[in-house]
Amino acid sequence: MRIFDPHIHMTSRTTDDYQAMYDAGVRALVEPSFWLGQPRTSPASFFDYFDALLGWEPFRAAQYGIAHHCTLALNPKEANDPRCTPVLDALPRYLVKDSVVAVGEIGYDSMTPAEDTALAAQLQLAADHGLPALVHTPHRDKLAGLRRTIDVVRESNLAPEFVVLDHLNETTVKDALDSGCWAGFSIYPDTKMDEDRMVAVLKLHGTEKILVNSAADWGRSDPLKTRGVGDAMLAAGFTEDDVDQVLWRNPVAFYGQSGRLHLDTATPDPLHEGNSILRGGE
Ligand SMILES: [Zn+2]
Repeated sequence: MRIFDPHIHMTSRTTDDYQAMYDAGVRALVEPSFWLGQPRTSPASFFDYFDALLGWEPFRAAQYGIAHHCTLALNPKEANDPRCTPVLDALPRYLVKDSVVAVGEIGYDSMTPAEDTALAAQLQLAADHGLPALVHTPHRDKLAGLRRTIDVVRESNLAPEFVVLDHLNETTVKDALDSGCWAGFSIYPDTKMDEDRMVAVLKLHGTEKILVNSAADWGRSDPLKTRGVGDAMLAAGFTEDDVDQVLWRNPVAFYGQSGRLHLDTATPDPLHEGNSILRGGE
């Protein structure tokens, strides 16, 4: 089983996770930029983080045979913090980088006017750069949040097939697919979607334009949930080809629209800017 995790925050994960992901079949991933678990106090904090997603983290992933890509943005939560919003002015110089395959995560957290502004501005940045957008949907008041998100996408200059609406569940999947966007599902250990609910969604809505991710981050999460969905699909009677479509070909098709996927993980460089993963090297 080959797996492309289209949304996982590897910065918060250990090297053991990389090894376990490789052993489970993960060969490529996308790491969206998000908040740090604590508020940032200036745009400079974003710049160091973006540089890590563009340099250090791909280097670390490559040591474990995994191709690493990222999406960059001002995240929905910090769109409300005036200390952070100036990062929007700096985004264009980051969005031209090779391994940036989308603008994201953008979207609504609490559906404030500041979030409206940041979402519209970043959908425009995606359109300007010919990039897809990874759009987070709110965890509270889900259906209303999703519908408002779809309205903003419709008013933007970005085509719906360039948008994935993420963190969906049974209540939001139909509206998301009807909008022409891609439908993303985050599988968690004890909240939101689990493997069996995901299989039920796939039975009802098919395997087209569906992305499944582990969204693993600082909180309780499991980077092997993608593999768990593949196994659950097979146990439920889906074919190997169905699994390959959902866990590999769909994310490749979606993020491939950036023209920037690099899926060969040939021989990794032993050093990144003079440093190895051995804490400074031998
Ligand atoms: Zn995320």
